[in-house]
Amino acid sequence: MVWAVVKANAYGHGIANAYEGLRGADGFALLDLDEAQQLRTLGWRGPILLLEGAFETRDLELCSRLKLWHAVHCEQQIDWLAMHKTHEPHRVFLKLNSGMNRLGFSATAFRAAWTRLNALPQVDEISLMTHFSDADALRSGSDGIQHQLDVFEAVCADLPGERSLSNSAATLRHSQRVHSDWVRAGIMSYGGVPDYPEHGPEHWDLRPAMTLRSKIIGVQHLQAGDTVGYGSSFTATQAMRIGTVACGYADGYPRHVPSGSPILVDGQRTTTVGRVSMDMLAVDLSALPGTGFNSEVTLWGQGPKGQVLPIDEVAKAAGTIGYELMCALAKRVPVTVQHLE
Ligand SMILES: *Cc1c(COP(=O)(O)O)cnc(C)c1O
Repeated sequence: MVWAVVKANAYGHGIANAYEGLRGADGFALLDLDEAQQLRTLGWRGPILLLEGAFETRDLELCSRLKLWHAVHCEQQIDWLAMHKTHEPHRVFLKLNSGMNRLGFSATAFRAAWTRLNALPQVDEISLMTHFSDADALRSGSDGIQHQLDVFEAVCADLPGERSLSNSAATLRHSQRVHSDWVRAGIMSYGGVPDYPEHGPEHWDLRPAMTLRSKIIGVQHLQAGDTVGYGSSFTATQAMRIGTVACGYADGYPRHVPSGSPILVDGQRTTTVGRVSMDMLAVDLSALPGTGFNSEVTLWGQGPKGQVLPIDEVAKAAGTIGYELMCALAKRVPVTVQHLE
């Protein structure tokens, strides 16, 4: 079964937009209670999992009211459950810290936590979860997950209950080895690649859900020696034609991309020129005759003629990951939704 992970406003796509595209999943996983409420308001009656569980006691009331399943990762959350008054016992996902060292009970504390939960009348079913730190890469000679799988097996092997271990990277790379009931598919649900640049989207057959596009609103003709943008960080070495694109860091385009980063104009690859400013950036049009004022610019995602500029490639140029760019899409960017078959 698949949890579609829709935390952080569905990785920047908007909960309602993502809901339309992802309602074929078996459940939704997130951490913000407002977002869980939104999903219920949208009509989702199936499972919703709070990945970090309750942040304070009164969150459990909402869990009861909205029938939310929730992670339990620390003793305080068990204390809150023990004090919680509810007619309907909760389904919980007890989290093991198998090596990520972020949330979860240690291997030595896990079984006592399970026993304590199992004795609570507030608890119905206990499932088991853990999270991998290195499913997207190799780690000190191992394949990145084996050491955590070993810990999980050693602690949980004889415990009953459904299991949830894999994020996108583990789902794509380690599906033969990780046996569990629920995968937690985040970035891959939006066509982002968890192990870029080792693999690109075509390797995993992923298509981008998010396209950031704009237009050229100005054209400049440069001579050798002319500079472009703030800080005059780019100097033309020959005559060139550049376009000014109505998109900048206030839209969520990363300011850190260096001059020369990939971008599409009318679906053709070219490069950025100079620094990204708040509302604009420049692109090289010299090798693209026929482009100019009003040409369509694809900052990432699906170009107008089927070409794709992976968000992961732009992220890499900016020294970050596609996840961060998706989540940072600014509110002021108008969003339209298109349904693909
Ligand atoms: C965010 C998150 C995921 C999804 O991770 P992706 O790499 O986007 O697939 C899965 N599990 C937990 C606990 C998470 O916090």
